[in-house]
Amino acid sequence: MSSDSAADIPVEEGLFSALDFFILSILAGMAGYWYFFKNKKQEQPTFKKLTVQPVQGRVNDPSFINKMKSSGRNVIVFYGSQTGTAEEFAGRLAKDAQGYGMKGMVADPEECEMDNLSSLPEIENALAIFCMATYGEGDPTDNAQEFYNWLQNGESDLTGMKFAVFGLGNKTYEHYNAMGVYVDKRLEELGAERIFDLGLGDDDANIEEDFVTWREKFWPAVCEHFGVQATGDQVNIRQYSLTEHDDLTAEKCYKGEIARLGSFGNQKPPYDAKNPFLAPVNVNRELHKGGDRSCMHIEFDITGSKIRYEAGDHVAVYPVNDPDLVELIGKRLEVDLGQMFTLTNVDEEASKKHPFPCPTTYRTAFSHYLDITGTPRTHILRELAEYAQDQKDKDFLNKLSSSTPEGKTLYSDWVVKDRRNITAILEDLPSVKPPIDHLCELLPRLQARYYSISSSPKVNPTSIHITAVVVKYNTKTDRTMKGVATNWLALKRPTNGIKPTVPVYVRKSQFRLPFKANTPVIMIGPGTGVAPFRGFIQERNFLKKEGKPVGDTVLYFGCRHKSQDYLYEDELEEYTKDGTLTKVHLAFSRDGPDKIYVQHLLRENMEETWKMLERGGHIYVCGDARNMARDVHETLEKIIRECGNMDKEKATNYVKQMQNKGRYSCDVNSPHGGNPHGGQLLIWEMTDKLWTLGDLDHDDHLTLAEFEREFITNYDHDGSGCVVSHEFVHQWQHNFLDTHQASVHVFQHFDRNSDGAICHVDTQALFTAVDQNQNNLIEKTEFDGLLLYVYGKLPLP
Ligand code: NAP
Repeated sequence: MSSDSAADIPVEEGLFSALDFFILSILAGMAGYWYFFKNKKQEQPTFKKLTVQPVQGRVNDPSFINKMKSSGRNVIVFYGSQTGTAEEFAGRLAKDAQGYGMKGMVADPEECEMDNLSSLPEIENALAIFCMATYGEGDPTDNAQEFYNWLQNGESDLTGMKFAVFGLGNKTYEHYNAMGVYVDKRLEELGAERIFDLGLGDDDANIEEDFVTWREKFWPAVCEHFGVQATGDQVNIRQYSLTEHDDLTAEKCYKGEIARLGSFGNQKPPYDAKNPFLAPVNVNRELHKGGDRSCMHIEFDITGSKIRYEAGDHVAVYPVNDPDLVELIGKRLEVDLGQMFTLTNVDEEASKKHPFPCPTTYRTAFSHYLDITGTPRTHILRELAEYAQDQKDKDFLNKLSSSTPEGKTLYSDWVVKDRRNITAILEDLPSVKPPIDHLCELLPRLQARYYSISSSPKVNPTSIHITAVVVKYNTKTDRTMKGVATNWLALKRPTNGIKPTVPVYVRKSQFRLPFKANTPVIMIGPGTGVAPFRGFIQERNFLKKEGKPVGDTVLYFGCRHKSQDYLYEDELEEYTKDGTLTKVHLAFSRDGPDKIYVQHLLRENMEETWKMLERGGHIYVCGDARNMARDVHETLEKIIRECGNMDKEKATNYVKQMQNKGRYSCDVNSPHGGNPHGGQLLIWEMTDKLWTLGDLDHDDHLTLAEFEREFITNYDHDGSGCVVSHEFVHQWQHNFLDTHQASVHVFQHFDRNSDGAICHVDTQALFTAVDQNQNNLIEKTEFDGLLLYVYGKLPLP
């Protein structure tokens, strides 16, 4: 039993359901709140404190139509964005509108009442543009999840609404641009009118070029459709106004916090994307034994943070830019980086008041909030051209950012291939001297970096491990490019008992060991792709030691040289000796005359693989998506064809089925789940229907004891509630929830039916407990015979 109380488990962010569902929730919440309030004096609460984080960032008036009408706008650009690119494209399109006599605004679908789309035709020459990124395995981004649900379930009549969609995706993933394609198709099905063809951007190639190419044809089509003309007003418009402060105290100034001022000094759970935990680094050791690369094994201490994780989850790290680069910018622009300032959105209607937490100093902004090592997009270069004092530099930047074939080639060569970031550009074009605050406005936000967790909480409940190669290489222009996060982490070494800290939070993934430990697993992870499997192996070892039947556990690992980068060699040998690992297949690619890769060994061992698959085995792949994962996929299909005597179509279907059943999972640089919004607390009531969900077969019946063993990880001190394991949550999410990360409580106030299954929950006790903690019932619904209660803090209207 853990010392952490069940109810204090940090709640992570997650979307819940479609917008209409949300409204119902609010109503239910109000009703629930009233109910609790009324019954305040009732029996003693039986639960520990429920800690929830309110949903943040929602605007008060979700009617974007009212906003458009009151501010005279007719173009609205929605974005589904995870890393900020779609949001940035949306901003550029909204700005463009001005050049065509139209007025645009950017909108986050999560903050909008999307039913309003049907009222858009009330506005003259109104147009809705959607910049929709696809995430993970063809999923919507977190902020577009509700919109996606709404599109799927909604039956709104969108007749008369005009739209265009630009999708953002990556061709290395199977479901390339699935969201863009879906939104484009679905809006038409609902009666809306597409005024320009769907645009598709490929982040694996040059998404900037795809976007620019689409946009240059898009606006003429808009002009033709609405009978408007380019006004030539397409000047560079400043979105934010600058205030410099000379009288602010340091306490009033952000120092890298993500949302709450002072949160780094005064840490309070729950920890999430907006409130990362400053985790002390317990261990930071080198894993490579030779060669010129470095691979770090880092252990973050999460003691007392109440952070929970599961093997297969990701940990997000907020990095800090190289101080040398930051100082270089300050010097180059001749500014005092210590100056405090605030950038304020000139659009009072905008939901984003500041581009990053303000007030802050220029040094903090360039260190913590701005991406100064990425590839600058063309609009940045176009705006920088305005500040070139030398006509040659101005012309060059204008050409570079133009959408002519010549401009595109130049951009692709000089910026993308030569890997020039903003500091390199400022260095190479010395007459370009933008005001620092304009640069702050233009540069994208520095993003958190995600690492596959390489530990199991069963073995390491108070630490989270990661395995990461330090990224460093030379560019064609003879500059050393350093990965922001890994080079920063490399410096985070505990010395003389002092442990440096790193802001982290855990993001749930769908990458999970099978629900039953006796299911065989094949894990394929060359290089640092072995990371999540270290966690999986630790977990299987733990279960084995507990006497549970653990199925075959086979690992395929590959590296360059056995003597240099064979990660966790000693551990893996130990696990092989004690039987946790049934087999380890090793591919040392550069030790022999021919390249040997994991997929070659998989093929050599195809009979073994096939037998494991036929026994219901699960396959996991982690690592490089572009080549390795694709090659492994092809090899797998071949194995199924040959060993299973199937034609290509049948083998493809077999693999698809495996994917659908969660028996073939990839964790290949495709971050999943999590979102930057407030969390919700879920409390689920169960009925005996429970057993038919998830990985369990319909005729599978668990006794309560089995249920407890399989799912329950902790009980509250007083035994009043328990925390179910993430496997359990995962099964449920799979069926009807999205990527929720929340405390999930299964209450012990239940009766059992003759099978021993839970059939009744004392909801009265539940209500009282929730009342005590001033949480609202935000949802009570029935799903497939299950009653689902959702409690949490939501802003009451
Ligand atoms: P690495 O050392 O560069 O490569 C590991 C081994 O894979 C080497 O033996 C390499 O051989 C081999 N390899 C190269 N191309 C291959 C292919 N097409 N198929 C099979 N094997 C191939 O690996 P690393 O530096 O650790 O990086 C591994 C990759 O995994 C990175 O892209 C990293 O970002 C990614 N990763 C992703 C996640 C995640 O998405 N959650 C987690 C961890 C790591 P040669 O170099 O000799 O050709």
